[in-house]
Amino acid sequence: MNQILTAFDAIGHGIMQVDRAGQVVLCNAMALRLLDLPDHLLKHPFPLLQSGIDLGSMPLAVGADGGSVMLTGPTGAILEIHARRTTHGNCVLMIEDVSAHHARTSALTQSEEENRSLFENTVYGIYRDTLEGVPVRGNPALAALNGYRSEAEYIAAVSQTGGNWYVDPNRSAEFGRLLQRDGRVKDLVSQVYRHRTREKIWITENAWYVRDAEGRPVFIEGTIQDATDRVEAIEAIARQANTDALTGTASRFRFLNHLAEEARPEKSGCVLYSIDLDQFKQINDLLGHGAGDLVLKTAAQRLIQVAGPHALVARLGGDEFAVLRTGPGCHMEADTVAMKIVQALRQPIAIEGHNVIAGSSVGVAVYPAHANCADELLGNADLALYHVKANGRNGFHLFGPELKSSLQRRRALETDLRTAIAEDELELYYQPIVEAATARVTGYEALMRWHHPRLGFLPPSQFIPVAEEAGLMGELGNWAIGRACRQAVLLPDGVTVAVNVSPNQFRSAGIVAELRQALADTGLAPSRLILEVTESVILSSETIAATVISDLIALGIKLALDDFGTGYSSLSYLQRFAFSELKIDRSFVAGIDEGSTNLAIVRAIIGLCRDLGIAVVAEGIETTEQANLLRAENCKFLQGFLYGRPKPFLEVAADHAVNLLDGLPWSERKPRPQKADARAVHKAL
Ligand code: C2E
Ligand code: CA
Ligand code: CA
Repeated sequence: MNQILTAFDAIGHGIMQVDRAGQVVLCNAMALRLLDLPDHLLKHPFPLLQSGIDLGSMPLAVGADGGSVMLTGPTGAILEIHARRTTHGNCVLMIEDVSAHHARTSALTQSEEENRSLFENTVYGIYRDTLEGVPVRGNPALAALNGYRSEAEYIAAVSQTGGNWYVDPNRSAEFGRLLQRDGRVKDLVSQVYRHRTREKIWITENAWYVRDAEGRPVFIEGTIQDATDRVEAIEAIARQANTDALTGTASRFRFLNHLAEEARPEKSGCVLYSIDLDQFKQINDLLGHGAGDLVLKTAAQRLIQVAGPHALVARLGGDEFAVLRTGPGCHMEADTVAMKIVQALRQPIAIEGHNVIAGSSVGVAVYPAHANCADELLGNADLALYHVKANGRNGFHLFGPELKSSLQRRRALETDLRTAIAEDELELYYQPIVEAATARVTGYEALMRWHHPRLGFLPPSQFIPVAEEAGLMGELGNWAIGRACRQAVLLPDGVTVAVNVSPNQFRSAGIVAELRQALADTGLAPSRLILEVTESVILSSETIAATVISDLIALGIKLALDDFGTGYSSLSYLQRFAFSELKIDRSFVAGIDEGSTNLAIVRAIIGLCRDLGIAVVAEGIETTEQANLLRAENCKFLQGFLYGRPKPFLEVAADHAVNLLDGLPWSERKPRPQKADARAVHKAL
């Protein structure tokens, strides 16, 4: 028996025999160690209670398996005590240290606990479904994703109603295909319905099979993440690239892609409209960016309306729009649609009580009639647009091959213009301005002409836009100032000379110095010099305009506001910028019939200018009726073909009986001619 007990020692189990009286009559060393009892007890019976074990608490049955209890022993070890009653009424206790095992199992329950916590608390939806898709488990996040408050609610609802989960019905098959092919689905993004509300959301999902011991799939498990925010962010970025944020029309990027798609031989053809708003810059400068934005938005809406369903409208940048029309018959309507665009953009836009007219220039090119590819189509529509702009804007033009040669002509003209001053090809013509009451000439407007060596006599409309674009207007303008001062000084004292100054020239830093120099060189009284500028000078930068104007006024030079009635026609800066003269444009004068609105407006303008001390000049008087009407309205000065066309200075000088040979500053380089040779005099000026 003792040997047996020792054998139990070897396997680490304690063993004790307890008699009916509760005395431990036999035990092994291991039992004493586990119960932390002294070794000498091996040799004597001792009461079981001394070990702290209470047999009464144990369910003991004869022959049966007996009961077992777990307790923490005196050494802190966890002991499992198995008790069995013998046929003699004794009891055998087997004591086992289960600390290690217990630690293992409790670690297991702890990790189970952790898993459960993850399952409960993660933001990812986690599920286990049968292969048929019936839910077995689903965590709170999954329930919430589907609009339910708990797993139970979710499982009940889904088991009951089933229902398609994917918005795209093909998605389910795709999911199954991937799962079968790879055994798992990785980061699949789909749009799905929230089960309860049927609201559409985006998800990213992962899924895999749970297999049995033989490797056969038994369940599908997976995670689901709400990806709505992410997808919406991506969509927003894509939309940003594809849409013009301000107007909501297509972006340049999208438009060019679309154009490249449509301008292809296998497609049915398309018509490209290249559109510029004529007055945008002025509106923006005068009324502010808010107004500018409103103009762009309104223009966009009108374009969308006019362009119709088979069209893409885009803002390519600034005030540049484009429309691409496709579909059957689009090329047949090229002209009518262009006309409608021009008309639509000519309608007034109400901004802060102003009625603003943006106006537009439209270039049209048709694929494949006018171009072989998208780039060429764009280039040719732009060429047509350019043609409209060069011809006074506010209209449309259909591309034609002649535009290419006109572009070449323009380029040649630009080259020639660079040497025109040095080659002495420019001349100033003078048009008289008369006092309305007496028809007496009080001054002249100097107007530039170009004697082109091959093309002959050119009016400003043929070369000033070219000069502007080539950046030559400053040079040309300075030449005009110098020449006008030298000639003006030869005319009788009271006679004024008005010189046109382009906006760019006006804004250039050098203009004040140039004028000061010209006045000093010629000795011309500054009060005899008038500079004619248009509103756009002020619109483009009030600050620069204010500085330059105050410098000019300090020099004693007068300013006229030119072409009134064509642009913004705001009277507010007449006084603010100290203009001494206002010139009513010829196009406005042309419409002043008896009883017309134009006449009423002219009357109001003249009245206001009288109060402000500003002289009014009406331009482009061609008929005596016009002259009479204006005189009746107390218009102080008149100018137009009725009183004289622009003519060379020699003729003006002759009119005033000026002896040019006496007044000219003859030099060594330009010897005084023997007789009054008109050509030599002209050259000397
Ligand atoms: P603008 O300043 O409005 O000059 C008046 C224009 O109207 C002139 O055209 C003149 O010939 C024309 N005109 C005058 N009376 C009548 C009339 O009764 N009927 C008609 N149909 N036309 C009339 P022009 O000389 O061809 O000049 C055109 C424009 O070129 C000028 O318009 C001006 O803006 C610009 N320009 C001319 N010379 C210069 C210059 O030296 N510098 C700058 N920057 N621009 C100039
Ligand atoms: Ca003028
Ligand atoms: Ca004018």
